[in-house]
Amino acid sequence: MNKIKQITLLIILAFAFCLTACSNQSRLTDSVNEDGAGTQVSGTGETDIESDNNSENETGNAFTMDINETLSKTTDIRPGYGTTYEVFVYSFFDSDGDGIGDFNGLTSRLEYISDLGFDGIWMMPISPSPTYHKYDVTDYYGIDPEYGTMADFENFMAACNELGIRVIIDLVINHSSSKHPWFLRAVEYLKGLDGAEPDITECPELDFYHFSRERKSGYYRVPGTEDWFYEAVFWSEMPDLNLDNEQLRTEIENITAFWFAKGVNGFRIDAAKEFFSGAPGKNIEVLTWFNDMVKIQNPDAYIVAEVWDTAAVYAPYLESGIDSVFNFTFANQNGVIAKTVRGQRAASAFGKAMVEHDELLSSFNPDYIDAPFYTNHDLGRSAGYYNGDFAYAQAKTALALNLLMSGNTFTYYGDELGMNGAGIDENKRLAMFWSEDEKAPGMCTGPADRENIKKRYPSYEIQKDDPLSIFNYTRNALRIRNAFPEIIQGKVMNLDDIATEALAAFTKSYDGSQITVLANLSTEEVVVKLDSIADIQTGSGITAVLLTDEKPVKIEDGMMMLPPFSIVIFK
Ligand code: CA
Repeated sequence: MNKIKQITLLIILAFAFCLTACSNQSRLTDSVNEDGAGTQVSGTGETDIESDNNSENETGNAFTMDINETLSKTTDIRPGYGTTYEVFVYSFFDSDGDGIGDFNGLTSRLEYISDLGFDGIWMMPISPSPTYHKYDVTDYYGIDPEYGTMADFENFMAACNELGIRVIIDLVINHSSSKHPWFLRAVEYLKGLDGAEPDITECPELDFYHFSRERKSGYYRVPGTEDWFYEAVFWSEMPDLNLDNEQLRTEIENITAFWFAKGVNGFRIDAAKEFFSGAPGKNIEVLTWFNDMVKIQNPDAYIVAEVWDTAAVYAPYLESGIDSVFNFTFANQNGVIAKTVRGQRAASAFGKAMVEHDELLSSFNPDYIDAPFYTNHDLGRSAGYYNGDFAYAQAKTALALNLLMSGNTFTYYGDELGMNGAGIDENKRLAMFWSEDEKAPGMCTGPADRENIKKRYPSYEIQKDDPLSIFNYTRNALRIRNAFPEIIQGKVMNLDDIATEALAAFTKSYDGSQITVLANLSTEEVVVKLDSIADIQTGSGITAVLLTDEKPVKIEDGMMMLPPFSIVIFK
């Protein structure tokens, strides 16, 4: 949202508050007196007054999201920690009207990303590739012409630098495209053998891949040969690279140096679990080599690997020294976040799950940085995880829970709008929903094979002006994250005595400072005795709240009333 629109919106809101406050003042006072503590205030105008009272009255008893307006951004963020936005350039913003997102389009929307509260961008692959998703690369040193030119990319990097946005790019080294010159040369060589034995000195690329005369599982026949096969775990057009090959490693060294020279801050390593499928020890060795090599090139580089499995499987990969592995435990439709928000896990277990996850990962590298994400381009969109009356509230709250986690969080583009889409991959990568008007500036068409997905929630254009939209909720969650170094990099302690089936309760401590988070993750109001949190509350009281609708958090007679799916931060 641009500054002028933002200010205009605030003025309109303030005016609206004034009007409702004047007309409803006496009625509200009555209802509070009659109802006493523990009851919910109903009706929208009344809650506005409560917040108005709060700002004027030192002892104020109702808290709305207005209090977040006073939060200011912390600069105390340790290297590698932060708040990253995952972008699929193809579907983000089209600058030249061909329906395909591009770098000039993305550059024009950087302020959107930055204003929202992100300080990092991870882009899915951007190099030349025959596919729309570009996970099969034909030239590791280029920019796919669909996305623009190298000059466009350089402009993009310059703009990111100006806004303080770190950029990590997807590096796909598990496999190349079947159209990559390395693979084409190897195939040509094998075709010309005519039954003779191969000689690696004649064709070094032969050892860049896993060729065999045996058709093992995951192998495909080399086109134009009778008796040669190659490994391609994901797809026939994605031949697996042999990361043991020294010459290939030198090539990868040149590739990372090339992108550092362009100013990128690090890499997301695709499919690290499949480097040598079924051989984690070898995969960790590859990552150890990669990490050592990259950190010599750029000691400040950030590396996160995708090891798509349970924590027991991905945690040991941290022994390689890389900064992060993606936290799959909390992600996806049946991960810790979604299950907790759906009430299928006790809220009290949420803090515990964070503590246990941290303990496990720390045991492999005490300096690791968690990489919590909630969805990504391979997962069904999160808005589809919830149904029923509280679906919208649940979709919002889940995003907040992710953003309350320590480390470098990743938020998938469009999740801040509650975009939906599941099933085939194309549906998970739809055009960013800027506007209901498909012809509006910047609108992409999305992947060609996408299905017709009916939108569940409105576009950005509409949501930006709705204080209760998932967009503005996410903005508030990001504002809170960015205000508290304890949220970004704090150590979690679960509050076993306060947390319940309905209430998550934990502290986060960093550098001698502590915050307390209470989250009502149920569909009923939760009442907390203030006595019970007195000894953990170190500061002045409630400093931030996240609410999914207009019902405020209330404090009366030593009790705090948390409406369904509300979150309170004490400092
Ligand atoms: Ca375009």
